[in-house]
Amino acid sequence: MNQKKIQFNRPYMTGKELSYITEAKSGHMLAGDGPFTKRCHGWIEEETGCAKALLTHSCTAALEMAALLLDIQPGDEIIMPSYTFVSTANAFVLRGGVPVFVDIREDTLNLDEQLIEAAITPRTKAIAPVHYAGVACEMDTIMAIAKRRNLKVVEDAAQGVMSTYKGRALGSIGDLGAYSFHETKNVISGEGGALLVNDPTMALRAEIIREKGTDRSRFFRGEVDKYTWQDVGSSFLPGELVAAFLWAQFEDADGITKDRLRSWQRYHELLEPLESAGLLRRMIVPEGCQHNAHMYYVLITPEIERQGVLDKLRSNNISSVFHYVPLHSSPAGKRYGRSHGELNITDEQSARLVRLPLWVGITEEQQSRVIDVLKGIAT
Ligand SMILES: *Cc1c(COP(=O)(O)O)cnc(C)c1O
Repeated sequence: MNQKKIQFNRPYMTGKELSYITEAKSGHMLAGDGPFTKRCHGWIEEETGCAKALLTHSCTAALEMAALLLDIQPGDEIIMPSYTFVSTANAFVLRGGVPVFVDIREDTLNLDEQLIEAAITPRTKAIAPVHYAGVACEMDTIMAIAKRRNLKVVEDAAQGVMSTYKGRALGSIGDLGAYSFHETKNVISGEGGALLVNDPTMALRAEIIREKGTDRSRFFRGEVDKYTWQDVGSSFLPGELVAAFLWAQFEDADGITKDRLRSWQRYHELLEPLESAGLLRRMIVPEGCQHNAHMYYVLITPEIERQGVLDKLRSNNISSVFHYVPLHSSPAGKRYGRSHGELNITDEQSARLVRLPLWVGITEEQQSRVIDVLKGIAT
Protein backbone atom coordinates (compact mmCIF):
# COMPACT_ATOMS: atom_id res chain seq x y z
CA MET A 1 0.00 0.00 0.00
CA ASN A 2 2.94 2.37 -0.34
CA GLN A 3 2.11 3.36 -3.91
CA LYS A 4 0.26 6.60 -4.50
CA LYS A 5 -3.47 6.31 -4.95
CA ILE A 6 -4.84 6.25 -8.49
CA GLN A 7 -8.19 7.95 -8.42
CA PHE A 8 -11.06 6.71 -10.55
CA ASN A 9 -11.86 10.17 -11.91
CA ARG A 10 -10.20 13.58 -11.70
CA PRO A 11 -12.30 16.51 -12.94
CA TYR A 12 -10.21 18.45 -15.45
CA MET A 13 -9.97 22.24 -15.52
CA THR A 14 -8.63 24.00 -18.61
CA GLY A 15 -7.38 26.99 -16.58
CA LYS A 16 -9.76 29.56 -18.07
CA GLU A 17 -12.82 28.72 -15.97
CA LEU A 18 -12.24 31.20 -13.17
CA SER A 19 -11.37 34.12 -15.42
CA TYR A 20 -14.59 33.59 -17.38
CA ILE A 21 -16.54 33.43 -14.14
CA THR A 22 -14.93 36.73 -13.11
CA GLU A 23 -15.87 38.18 -16.47
CA ALA A 24 -19.49 37.06 -16.05
CA LYS A 25 -19.58 38.49 -12.54
CA SER A 26 -18.19 41.86 -13.57
CA GLY A 27 -20.84 42.11 -16.28
CA HIS A 28 -23.49 41.84 -13.54
CA MET A 29 -25.17 39.07 -15.48
CA LEU A 30 -25.66 36.32 -12.96
CA ALA A 31 -29.04 34.87 -13.90
CA GLY A 32 -29.35 32.51 -16.85
CA ASP A 33 -29.35 33.15 -20.59
CA GLY A 34 -26.65 35.83 -20.53
CA PRO A 35 -23.70 36.11 -22.96
CA PHE A 36 -21.91 32.92 -21.84
CA THR A 37 -25.08 30.84 -22.09
CA LYS A 38 -25.63 32.19 -25.61
CA ARG A 39 -22.07 31.29 -26.56
CA CYS A 40 -22.56 27.78 -25.20
CA HIS A 41 -25.82 27.39 -27.14
CA GLY A 42 -24.05 28.52 -30.31
CA TRP A 43 -21.21 26.09 -29.74
CA ILE A 44 -23.53 23.09 -29.31
CA GLU A 45 -25.60 24.06 -32.35
CA GLU A 46 -22.46 24.47 -34.45
CA GLU A 47 -20.81 21.30 -33.17
CA THR A 48 -23.85 19.03 -33.47
CA GLY A 49 -26.09 20.60 -36.07
CA CYS A 50 -29.11 20.49 -33.73
CA ALA A 51 -31.88 23.00 -34.45
CA LYS A 52 -31.76 24.46 -30.95
CA ALA A 53 -29.56 23.85 -27.92
CA LEU A 54 -30.68 24.86 -24.43
CA LEU A 55 -28.46 24.64 -21.37
CA THR A 56 -30.10 23.02 -18.36
CA HIS A 57 -28.88 22.46 -14.83
CA SER A 58 -28.38 18.74 -15.52
CA CYS A 59 -28.96 15.98 -18.03
CA THR A 60 -31.72 14.83 -15.70
CA ALA A 61 -33.43 18.21 -16.18
CA ALA A 62 -33.02 17.93 -19.97
CA LEU A 63 -34.67 14.50 -19.91
CA GLU A 64 -37.52 15.87 -17.77
CA MET A 65 -37.99 18.63 -20.33
CA ALA A 66 -38.10 15.98 -23.05
CA ALA A 67 -40.89 14.13 -21.23
CA LEU A 68 -42.86 17.38 -20.93
CA LEU A 69 -42.27 18.24 -24.60
CA LEU A 70 -43.55 14.82 -25.68
CA ASP A 71 -46.66 15.28 -23.49
CA ILE A 72 -46.11 11.95 -21.79
CA GLN A 73 -49.37 10.95 -20.09
CA PRO A 74 -50.00 8.38 -17.34
CA GLY A 75 -49.69 4.90 -18.82
CA ASP A 76 -47.66 5.94 -21.85
CA GLU A 77 -44.80 3.52 -22.45
CA ILE A 78 -41.19 4.39 -23.20
CA ILE A 79 -38.82 1.69 -24.45
CA MET A 80 -35.35 1.90 -22.92
CA PRO A 81 -32.50 -0.26 -21.64
CA SER A 82 -32.53 -1.41 -18.02
CA TYR A 83 -28.78 -0.98 -18.02
CA THR A 84 -28.73 2.80 -17.56
CA PHE A 85 -28.71 5.61 -15.02
CA VAL A 86 -31.96 6.19 -13.11
CA SER A 87 -32.68 9.53 -14.80
CA THR A 88 -33.44 7.91 -18.17
CA ALA A 89 -36.46 6.28 -16.51
CA ASN A 90 -37.28 8.79 -13.76
CA ALA A 91 -37.85 11.66 -16.17
CA PHE A 92 -40.76 9.78 -17.75
CA VAL A 93 -42.01 8.21 -14.51
CA LEU A 94 -42.50 11.75 -13.11
CA ARG A 95 -45.17 12.22 -15.81
CA GLY A 96 -46.79 8.83 -15.12
CA GLY A 97 -44.96 7.13 -17.97
CA VAL A 98 -44.03 3.44 -17.79
CA PRO A 99 -40.45 2.46 -18.67
CA VAL A 100 -40.40 -0.76 -20.70
CA PHE A 101 -37.00 -2.34 -20.27
CA VAL A 102 -35.49 -4.20 -23.19
CA ASP A 103 -32.26 -6.23 -23.19
CA ILE A 104 -28.93 -4.84 -24.41
CA ARG A 105 -26.48 -5.88 -27.10
CA GLU A 106 -23.63 -8.11 -26.07
CA ASP A 107 -20.98 -5.99 -27.83
CA THR A 108 -21.77 -2.37 -26.84
CA LEU A 109 -24.16 -2.91 -23.90
CA ASN A 110 -26.52 -0.53 -25.70
CA LEU A 111 -30.26 -1.10 -26.24
CA ASP A 112 -30.64 -4.07 -28.62
CA GLU A 113 -32.39 -2.50 -31.59
CA GLN A 114 -33.55 -5.94 -32.79
CA LEU A 115 -35.76 -6.30 -29.70
CA ILE A 116 -37.53 -2.94 -29.90
CA GLU A 117 -40.24 -3.78 -32.39
CA ALA A 118 -41.62 -6.70 -30.35
CA ALA A 119 -41.84 -4.47 -27.26
CA ILE A 120 -44.09 -1.90 -28.93
CA THR A 121 -47.75 -1.77 -27.78
CA PRO A 122 -50.57 0.68 -28.55
CA ARG A 123 -49.38 2.68 -25.47
CA THR A 124 -45.80 3.09 -26.69
CA LYS A 125 -44.91 6.73 -27.15
CA ALA A 126 -41.14 6.90 -27.38
CA ILE A 127 -37.81 5.10 -27.51
CA ALA A 128 -34.99 6.29 -25.25
CA PRO A 129 -31.66 4.87 -26.43
CA VAL A 130 -28.66 5.43 -24.16
CA HIS A 131 -25.20 5.75 -25.73
CA TYR A 132 -23.27 3.86 -23.08
CA ALA A 133 -19.61 4.85 -22.64
CA GLY A 134 -20.06 7.38 -25.45
CA VAL A 135 -20.40 4.57 -28.01
CA ALA A 136 -23.40 5.06 -30.29
CA CYS A 137 -26.52 2.91 -30.42
CA GLU A 138 -27.53 1.56 -33.84
CA MET A 139 -29.40 4.76 -34.65
CA ASP A 140 -30.33 4.05 -38.29
CA THR A 141 -32.38 1.03 -37.24
CA ILE A 142 -33.87 2.82 -34.22
CA MET A 143 -34.89 5.85 -36.28
CA ALA A 144 -36.40 3.63 -38.98
CA ILE A 145 -38.54 1.78 -36.40
CA ALA A 146 -39.62 5.07 -34.83
CA LYS A 147 -40.65 6.47 -38.19
CA ARG A 148 -42.53 3.35 -39.21
CA ARG A 149 -44.35 3.07 -35.86
CA ASN A 150 -44.84 6.80 -35.29
CA LEU A 151 -42.75 7.01 -32.12
CA LYS A 152 -40.51 9.79 -30.81
CA VAL A 153 -36.85 9.21 -30.02
CA VAL A 154 -35.11 10.80 -27.02
CA GLU A 155 -31.36 10.12 -27.01
CA ASP A 156 -29.81 9.92 -23.57
CA ALA A 157 -26.44 11.22 -24.78
CA ALA A 158 -25.28 12.11 -21.26
CA GLN A 159 -22.00 10.32 -21.95
CA GLY A 160 -21.86 11.13 -25.65
CA VAL A 161 -20.58 14.71 -25.98
CA MET A 162 -18.09 14.77 -28.91
CA SER A 163 -19.07 11.27 -30.08
CA THR A 164 -20.54 10.57 -33.50
CA TYR A 165 -22.55 7.91 -35.31
CA LYS A 166 -21.78 7.74 -39.04
CA GLY A 167 -20.49 11.29 -38.80
CA ARG A 168 -23.49 12.70 -36.93
CA ALA A 169 -23.15 13.99 -33.37
CA LEU A 170 -24.83 11.89 -30.70
CA GLY A 171 -27.83 13.76 -29.33
CA SER A 172 -28.57 15.30 -32.72
CA ILE A 173 -30.16 12.25 -34.36
CA GLY A 174 -33.39 11.61 -32.44
CA ASP A 175 -36.20 14.17 -32.00
CA LEU A 176 -34.52 15.26 -28.78
CA GLY A 177 -31.14 14.62 -27.15
CA ALA A 178 -29.78 15.19 -23.65
CA TYR A 179 -26.18 15.97 -22.63
CA SER A 180 -24.59 15.93 -19.19
CA PHE A 181 -21.80 18.19 -17.94
CA HIS A 182 -21.64 16.56 -14.52
CA GLU A 183 -18.10 16.46 -13.10
CA THR A 184 -17.82 12.75 -13.89
CA LYS A 185 -18.35 13.34 -17.61
CA ASN A 186 -15.81 14.51 -20.24
CA VAL A 187 -16.77 18.19 -20.58
CA ILE A 188 -17.97 19.56 -17.28
CA SER A 189 -19.48 22.39 -15.27
CA GLY A 190 -19.90 20.63 -11.93
CA GLU A 191 -23.57 19.99 -12.44
CA GLY A 192 -24.92 20.84 -15.87
CA GLY A 193 -26.60 19.62 -19.01
CA ALA A 194 -28.26 20.55 -22.26
CA LEU A 195 -31.34 19.68 -24.26
CA LEU A 196 -30.78 19.32 -28.00
CA VAL A 197 -33.96 20.02 -29.94
CA ASN A 198 -33.67 18.48 -33.39
CA ASP A 199 -37.29 18.81 -34.42
CA PRO A 200 -37.58 22.57 -35.06
CA THR A 201 -41.33 22.52 -34.39
CA MET A 202 -40.56 21.81 -30.72
CA ALA A 203 -38.03 24.61 -30.29
CA LEU A 204 -40.34 27.41 -29.17
CA ARG A 205 -42.21 25.22 -26.71
CA ALA A 206 -38.89 23.94 -25.32
CA GLU A 207 -37.87 27.52 -24.49
CA ILE A 208 -41.21 28.11 -22.75
CA ILE A 209 -41.03 24.92 -20.68
CA ARG A 210 -37.49 25.84 -19.60
CA GLU A 211 -38.53 29.36 -18.54
CA LYS A 212 -41.22 28.41 -16.00
CA GLY A 213 -43.84 28.05 -18.72
CA THR A 214 -43.47 31.65 -19.89
CA ASP A 215 -42.49 33.22 -23.22
CA ARG A 216 -39.76 35.21 -21.50
CA SER A 217 -37.14 34.19 -24.10
CA ARG A 218 -39.26 35.70 -26.88
CA PHE A 219 -39.75 38.84 -24.77
CA PHE A 220 -35.96 39.25 -24.41
CA ARG A 221 -35.59 38.88 -28.17
CA GLY A 222 -38.16 41.65 -28.62
CA GLU A 223 -40.63 39.34 -30.33
CA VAL A 224 -43.45 40.05 -27.85
CA ASP A 225 -44.04 43.18 -25.73
CA LYS A 226 -44.65 41.34 -22.45
CA TYR A 227 -44.22 37.82 -21.20
CA THR A 228 -46.89 35.70 -19.57
CA TRP A 229 -47.72 32.19 -18.50
CA GLN A 230 -48.17 30.12 -21.66
CA ASP A 231 -47.74 26.45 -20.78
CA VAL A 232 -46.56 24.02 -18.14
CA GLY A 233 -42.92 24.45 -17.25
CA SER A 234 -40.34 24.82 -14.56
CA SER A 235 -36.96 26.44 -13.99
CA PHE A 236 -34.52 24.33 -15.95
CA LEU A 237 -31.80 26.88 -16.80
CA PRO A 238 -28.41 27.30 -15.13
CA GLY A 239 -27.02 30.65 -14.02
CA GLU A 240 -24.31 32.48 -15.96
CA LEU A 241 -21.47 31.44 -13.64
CA VAL A 242 -22.04 27.83 -14.59
CA ALA A 243 -22.22 28.73 -18.29
CA ALA A 244 -18.97 30.73 -17.97
CA PHE A 245 -17.24 27.68 -16.50
CA LEU A 246 -18.68 25.49 -19.25
CA TRP A 247 -17.53 27.85 -21.99
CA ALA A 248 -13.91 27.33 -20.94
CA GLN A 249 -14.46 23.59 -21.27
CA PHE A 250 -16.13 23.88 -24.68
CA GLU A 251 -13.14 25.86 -25.98
CA ASP A 252 -10.93 22.91 -25.03
CA ALA A 253 -13.33 20.07 -25.94
CA ASP A 254 -11.13 18.82 -28.79
CA GLY A 255 -8.05 18.71 -26.58
CA ILE A 256 -9.94 16.95 -23.78
CA THR A 257 -11.25 14.33 -26.20
CA LYS A 258 -7.85 13.75 -27.83
CA ASP A 259 -6.14 13.25 -24.48
CA ARG A 260 -8.80 10.80 -23.28
CA LEU A 261 -8.70 8.88 -26.57
CA ARG A 262 -4.92 8.47 -26.27
CA SER A 263 -5.28 6.96 -22.77
CA TRP A 264 -8.24 4.84 -23.92
CA GLN A 265 -6.18 3.44 -26.80
CA ARG A 266 -3.30 2.70 -24.45
CA TYR A 267 -5.59 0.62 -22.18
CA HIS A 268 -6.98 -1.11 -25.24
CA GLU A 269 -3.52 -2.16 -26.43
CA LEU A 270 -2.18 -3.12 -23.01
CA LEU A 271 -5.27 -5.26 -22.35
CA GLU A 272 -5.04 -7.28 -25.56
CA PRO A 273 -2.83 -10.05 -24.06
CA LEU A 274 -5.20 -10.31 -21.07
CA GLU A 275 -8.13 -10.78 -23.41
CA SER A 276 -6.17 -13.43 -25.36
CA ALA A 277 -5.43 -15.18 -22.06
CA GLY A 278 -9.17 -15.36 -21.36
CA LEU A 279 -9.19 -13.12 -18.28
CA LEU A 280 -11.53 -10.49 -19.62
CA ARG A 281 -13.21 -9.00 -22.63
CA ARG A 282 -12.24 -5.53 -23.85
CA MET A 283 -14.64 -2.84 -25.07
CA ILE A 284 -16.03 -3.22 -28.59
CA VAL A 285 -16.63 -0.14 -30.73
CA PRO A 286 -18.61 -0.91 -33.90
CA GLU A 287 -17.70 0.49 -37.30
CA GLY A 288 -19.10 3.97 -37.85
CA CYS A 289 -19.09 4.87 -34.15
CA GLN A 290 -16.47 7.47 -33.27
CA HIS A 291 -16.47 7.50 -29.49
CA ASN A 292 -15.20 10.11 -27.03
CA ALA A 293 -13.29 7.86 -24.60
CA HIS A 294 -15.76 8.61 -21.86
CA MET A 295 -14.98 5.32 -20.20
CA TYR A 296 -12.80 2.25 -20.31
CA TYR A 297 -14.50 -0.83 -18.96
CA VAL A 298 -13.65 -4.52 -19.09
CA LEU A 299 -15.92 -7.53 -18.70
CA ILE A 300 -14.29 -9.98 -16.34
CA THR A 301 -14.60 -13.59 -17.46
CA PRO A 302 -17.47 -15.36 -15.60
CA GLU A 303 -15.00 -17.83 -14.06
CA ILE A 304 -13.39 -15.02 -12.04
CA GLU A 305 -15.33 -13.36 -9.25
CA ARG A 306 -15.68 -9.61 -9.90
CA GLN A 307 -15.57 -8.57 -6.25
CA GLY A 308 -12.16 -10.22 -5.95
CA VAL A 309 -10.92 -8.09 -8.86
CA LEU A 310 -12.24 -4.88 -7.31
CA ASP A 311 -10.68 -5.85 -3.96
CA LYS A 312 -7.31 -6.52 -5.61
CA LEU A 313 -7.36 -3.14 -7.33
CA ARG A 314 -8.33 -1.43 -4.07
CA SER A 315 -5.59 -3.16 -2.08
CA ASN A 316 -3.14 -1.81 -4.67
CA ASN A 317 -4.48 1.68 -4.06
CA ILE A 318 -6.34 1.85 -7.36
CA SER A 319 -9.86 3.11 -7.26
CA SER A 320 -12.07 1.23 -9.69
CA VAL A 321 -15.81 0.71 -9.74
CA PHE A 322 -18.59 -1.34 -11.24
CA HIS A 323 -21.56 0.45 -12.76
CA TYR A 324 -25.35 0.33 -12.92
CA VAL A 325 -27.53 -1.98 -10.91
CA PRO A 326 -30.00 -2.75 -13.74
CA LEU A 327 -33.17 -0.74 -13.23
CA HIS A 328 -35.50 -3.74 -13.67
CA SER A 329 -33.99 -5.27 -10.55
CA SER A 330 -34.15 -2.08 -8.46
CA PRO A 331 -37.06 -1.35 -6.06
CA ALA A 332 -38.36 1.64 -8.04
CA GLY A 333 -37.76 -0.08 -11.37
CA LYS A 334 -40.03 -2.93 -10.27
CA ARG A 335 -42.66 -0.49 -9.01
CA TYR A 336 -42.78 1.85 -12.01
CA GLY A 337 -41.52 -0.14 -14.97
CA ARG A 338 -41.79 -3.53 -16.59
CA SER A 339 -39.46 -5.74 -18.57
CA HIS A 340 -40.07 -6.98 -22.06
CA GLY A 341 -38.81 -10.55 -22.20
CA GLU A 342 -35.73 -11.87 -20.45
CA LEU A 343 -32.94 -9.41 -19.73
CA ASN A 344 -30.22 -12.04 -19.63
CA ILE A 345 -27.45 -10.03 -21.25
CA THR A 346 -28.22 -7.07 -18.98
CA ASP A 347 -27.97 -9.31 -15.89
CA GLU A 348 -24.85 -11.14 -17.03
CA GLN A 349 -22.78 -8.23 -18.36
CA SER A 350 -23.63 -5.79 -15.58
CA ALA A 351 -22.36 -8.34 -13.04
CA ARG A 352 -19.04 -8.71 -14.87
CA LEU A 353 -18.24 -5.09 -15.64
CA VAL A 354 -15.35 -3.16 -14.09
CA ARG A 355 -14.55 0.46 -15.01
CA LEU A 356 -10.90 1.52 -14.97
CA PRO A 357 -9.50 4.90 -13.90
CA LEU A 358 -9.56 7.33 -16.85
CA TRP A 359 -9.14 11.09 -16.87
CA VAL A 360 -7.26 13.82 -18.67
CA GLY A 361 -3.63 13.52 -17.64
CA ILE A 362 -3.54 9.91 -16.41
CA THR A 363 0.02 8.73 -17.01
CA GLU A 364 1.36 5.66 -18.82
CA GLU A 365 2.92 4.57 -15.55
CA GLN A 366 -0.45 4.78 -13.75
CA GLN A 367 -2.17 2.83 -16.50
CA SER A 368 0.56 0.18 -16.40
CA ARG A 369 0.00 -0.23 -12.67
CA VAL A 370 -3.69 -0.94 -13.33
CA ILE A 371 -2.80 -3.50 -16.00
CA ASP A 372 -0.24 -5.20 -13.72
CA VAL A 373 -2.91 -5.80 -11.10
CA LEU A 374 -5.37 -7.11 -13.72
CA LYS A 375 -2.72 -9.57 -14.95
CA GLY A 376 -2.84 -11.21 -11.54
CA ILE A 377 -6.60 -11.65 -11.20
CA ALA A 378 -6.65 -15.32 -12.20
CA THR A 379 -4.60 -16.33 -9.17
C1 LIG B 1 -24.67 11.00 -16.00
C2 LIG B 1 -25.87 10.41 -16.65
C3 LIG B 1 -27.14 10.98 -16.50
C4 LIG B 1 -27.43 12.10 -15.55
O1 LIG B 1 -26.72 13.25 -15.78
P1 LIG B 1 -26.85 14.49 -14.76
O2 LIG B 1 -26.25 15.62 -15.52
O3 LIG B 1 -26.07 14.11 -13.55
O4 LIG B 1 -28.29 14.68 -14.49
C5 LIG B 1 -28.19 10.43 -17.21
N1 LIG B 1 -28.02 9.38 -18.02
C6 LIG B 1 -26.81 8.80 -18.18
C7 LIG B 1 -26.68 7.64 -19.11
C8 LIG B 1 -25.70 9.30 -17.49
O5 LIG B 1 -24.51 8.71 -17.65
